[in-house]
Amino acid sequence: MRIGVPTEIKPSERRVGMTPDGVHAVVEAGHEVFVQDGAGVGSGFDNAEYVAAGARLGTQAEVWDTAELLVKVKEPIEPEYGFLREDLTLFTYLHLAADRDLTQALLENRTRSIAYETVRDGRALPLLTPMSEIAGRLAAQAAAQYSLHTEGGPGILLGGTPGVAPARVVVLGGGTVGTQAALLAVGLRAEVTILDAYLPRVRELTDYFGNSARVLASNPRNIERELEGADVVIGSVLVPGAAAPKLVRREHLDLLAPGSLLIDVAIDQGGCFETSHPTTYEDPVFEVDGIRHYCVANMPGAVPRTGTASLTNATLPFVLRLGQGIDEALREDRILAAGLNTEQGEITFQGVADAFPDLP
Ligand code: NAD
Repeated sequence: MRIGVPTEIKPSERRVGMTPDGVHAVVEAGHEVFVQDGAGVGSGFDNAEYVAAGARLGTQAEVWDTAELLVKVKEPIEPEYGFLREDLTLFTYLHLAADRDLTQALLENRTRSIAYETVRDGRALPLLTPMSEIAGRLAAQAAAQYSLHTEGGPGILLGGTPGVAPARVVVLGGGTVGTQAALLAVGLRAEVTILDAYLPRVRELTDYFGNSARVLASNPRNIERELEGADVVIGSVLVPGAAAPKLVRREHLDLLAPGSLLIDVAIDQGGCFETSHPTTYEDPVFEVDGIRHYCVANMPGAVPRTGTASLTNATLPFVLRLGQGIDEALREDRILAAGLNTEQGEITFQGVADAFPDLP
């Protein structure tokens, strides 16, 4: 199959759809891969690495126009709509329910699209997990960084030092983000408490962390008790399909240690602190009642090299499956089939159909 990997042109996006290692695996499986000239540069992969892996290089038009399957990162933006056509399958993050123009462009051009974020294996979303893993680990790094005096913080080392108590880090929501954040905070020797509302998960976390972190059931009293004197609170709850619950309200800020830091990773779902609003890497931190808030909505954007590698690890098995025949793969693989959002001019995903009841 002819597989294309274009350069991402959405502003600030530096990832690319496939690493050279991914290309190598796809070429080994007997497919042709066309990579846009310079597509990997933002992620630290140069053309020579792609050529060595067996890719051909081409212009944007060559890559888009010759591909049967186009493997991307972000949804196509307006300048790319002209490349959409009927015999093209897009495999990428799409978030169509929030993008009427793109949905219409896909329908009008009868393009088939498979959205990473809706590929589903039971409760798991295997193509969202890599970005949550990255955001969780980055949250712990941000906690360490913004606790420094030089970054406007209270001047504490998360792990303390022999004879000096470590910082107290509270993680709200022990899913993918929360677990990875806790893992790194534990690694830095902070005193970590994780709260989760789903008891089976609480049990798993208890077994997983053993004595290295406290794991508690999430309820308002437990949250209040843990906030008292906390140095860092990481918000990582998710209620699928709903806005994040506001677990920390403004009046709770008084409970925290002076100069402490709230990191709201769930900000992309509205945030789990009442006082949060989205920020960017240009200006990541703001203060409310003396408590600093870090609410970067696209945390993985800072690590495109790791992000591209991690995303390729997750997408590669699906790309190989699609390479054997797209119709057949979608018929036989229910995990992949859950990702199908548009086909032959029709919306095929319920959440998108619900968002645009007037579209076919
Ligand atoms: P997840 O589903 O793996 O974990 C969410 C956890 O929250 C679950 O274990 C669930 O039981 C728990 N939970 C739900 N309600 C709770 C409550 N009231 N109290 C405590 N725990 C509760 O989700 P995830 O992949 O870890 O993602 C978490 C959030 O991070 C999502 O909103 C996601 O969109 C966001 N995220 C943000 C970025 C970013 O750059 N800011 C990147 C990746 C993910």
